[in-house]
Amino acid sequence: MRKNVIAGNWKMNKTLSEANQFVEEVAAKAPSNEQVEVIVCAPFPFLASLVEKAKGSSVKIGAQNMHYEDNGAFTGEVSPVMLNDLGVTHVVIGHSERREYFAETSETVNKKTHAAFSHDLTPIVCVGETLEQREANETMNHVESQVRKALEGLSDEQVADTIIAYEPIWAIGTGKTATSDQANEVCTHIRNVIKDVTSNETAEKVIIQYGGSVKPANVDELLAKSDIDGALVGGASLETASFLKLVEAG
Ligand code: 13P
Repeated sequence: MRKNVIAGNWKMNKTLSEANQFVEEVAAKAPSNEQVEVIVCAPFPFLASLVEKAKGSSVKIGAQNMHYEDNGAFTGEVSPVMLNDLGVTHVVIGHSERREYFAETSETVNKKTHAAFSHDLTPIVCVGETLEQREANETMNHVESQVRKALEGLSDEQVADTIIAYEPIWAIGTGKTATSDQANEVCTHIRNVIKDVTSNETAEKVIIQYGGSVKPANVDELLAKSDIDGALVGGASLETASFLKLVEAG
């Protein structure tokens, strides 16, 4: 039985004091049970402080991106070594905003996924189609190729530990959620692709999240679906009240 993983992706939001307050409150109120895992993916400057705030609670702290090299002349970048050293446990890789605005490609996503495992970080790999691709019936092929490339060269154990977030781009920040059937159809396809890449047993272990306008009003229906094991949440993860409702639903 897979657990549900509820992850907040704050994107480029909050000040340090707002971030600290949020994690203190969520750490105090989030249930610590085996069935739900809670992750807050925050901007780099807050990570060290948030790891401290989350200590002793069930809340994990994640980053929203990283470089794939351990160190070097990459001005402005942050390495997996640094994240691991801070006590960060998860890292979002290949978010559609990174692919669109910061030249992230399937190749760099694959390098970052490998780098995450080399440094004890759990990658949350984002995949998803544009509206044009959906309307042209290219969703399944596009998502399949993103998943195959992201997982290339990983061991079965590493694939089992990867979190995949299916985030249709047209549903991000638009208030337009994919229906639970639309979301599950793609998540099932992703699991079938992983079966093909590894084995049935491995694929059954992989956490597949849905992301895109998830909120307290639609989370139950999404999480009830057979292949949706959690949510990657933007807007509704910015307020403690709505985030805690999502955690409770998990
Ligand atoms: P919203 O929940 O704001 O639609 O954002 C989804 C997302 O991009 C999470 O990574």
